Amino acid sequence: MLDINLITLSFQDEGLERRFRSGYSRRYRFQSLLAMQVALVLFSLFAVLDWLLYPQLVAQLWSIRFGFALPVLLLIFFFLLGRAYFRYGQQLMSLSLVVANLAIVGMTVVIPADMNDVYVAGLMLVALYGYTVSRLRFVWATVGNWFGVLAYNLANIWWGDVSNWDVFAGNFFCISTNVMGMVASYSMEYDSRRGFLLQQELRRERSRLNTVNKRLEKQARTDELTRLANRRSFFEHAQEEWRRAQRKGNCLSLVMIDVDHFKRVNDRYGHQAGDACLEQVAKVLASHARRAGEMAARLGGEEFILLLPDASSDLACEIAEAARSAIAATDFIIAPSSGSVGLHLTISCGVVSAFADDEHTLENLLSQADRAMYEAKRQGRDMVYCPNPAPGEVEKASQHGV
Ligand code: GH3
Ligand code: MG
Ligand code: MG
Repeated sequence: MLDINLITLSFQDEGLERRFRSGYSRRYRFQSLLAMQVALVLFSLFAVLDWLLYPQLVAQLWSIRFGFALPVLLLIFFFLLGRAYFRYGQQLMSLSLVVANLAIVGMTVVIPADMNDVYVAGLMLVALYGYTVSRLRFVWATVGNWFGVLAYNLANIWWGDVSNWDVFAGNFFCISTNVMGMVASYSMEYDSRRGFLLQQELRRERSRLNTVNKRLEKQARTDELTRLANRRSFFEHAQEEWRRAQRKGNCLSLVMIDVDHFKRVNDRYGHQAGDACLEQVAKVLASHARRAGEMAARLGGEEFILLLPDASSDLACEIAEAARSAIAATDFIIAPSSGSVGLHLTISCGVVSAFADDEHTLENLLSQADRAMYEAKRQGRDMVYCPNPAPGEVEKASQHGV
């Protein structure tokens, strides 16, 4: 059940109602204006009927049709072509029903009583137009069309020479058409409003899903403990940077990092304390990968990596050394059950650099970085192992001015 006024169909929420009305006007502008043009053409064509049925009354009938109704209807139509449509469209279109109904009732007064039925059919046509194709909202269609019934009865009271039974029959048809029209118009507008609410709901749901998706995507790329990029994100970014380096003929460096004797931290202070250390190690490492394109990532466990695009071997070794000494100089704060402790940790780093050409692949570079890191371990830990670049690399480096 919609939260609406059951008579006017307006939403109780004013803001919602405003949005509905402006959306409705935009959505049906084309249809309303087209329907009005068709109605104007038909209204003019009925002049032929005036002329065929009542050649002797044609002057009076045409003065009502072309002297009064058509100019007013055209004026309303031209107003509707402009901005007025969005502010007063419903009222103006409803007024056009009033004008058409008045004209038709006027003509019933002019013609002989026994031919009234023909023009009463006109009132029904106006009702059909008003309740359905014009896309007038229920309230305005109802006002405009019932005005026709009212005018028909008033005209008959004041000037009528029609028998009561004919007026009764006329009313019977007109009122029935109006009642059916109201039902049609009511249900069309009700459906429009329900569709509008569903659309709003869908839009809200889509934006909520977008936010959740973005969050999930970020989560899928972030290491939960350290908030660094995770292994997957690292590989994606490394491949991207590798391709960029291939295009530009640049050098790319990797620093593989492993925390020394980390098992002892866990064994001595517990896993939670170990986690706290890893978080702090990550922060220090992240501060050494700040240039555009650089990345610090956690590959897993107590293993990290720095991706340094466009960094020569020398620069990469410098960065790795800076990271190593920063870690060595840090007091890692952990809080075991016995109280807060400042812990000292060290890392072993293996550095590799290569030009992204046909001789190298990213996978090769990674396994070289791994080997370099194990060499640092083998040589005593707490150190950066920078294998000398192969002679070919030196040549290339000097060609690139690195
Ligand atoms: P090495 O200097 O040779 O690297 O010694 P290590 O003790 O660091 O190396 P090893 O590979 O034997 O142990 C790594 C330890 O890191 C094992 C595990 O307890 C710990 N570890 C791995 N992942 C996590 C984690 O997410 N949290 C904590 N607290 N510890 C972890
Ligand atoms: Mg390890
Ligand atoms: Mg280790």
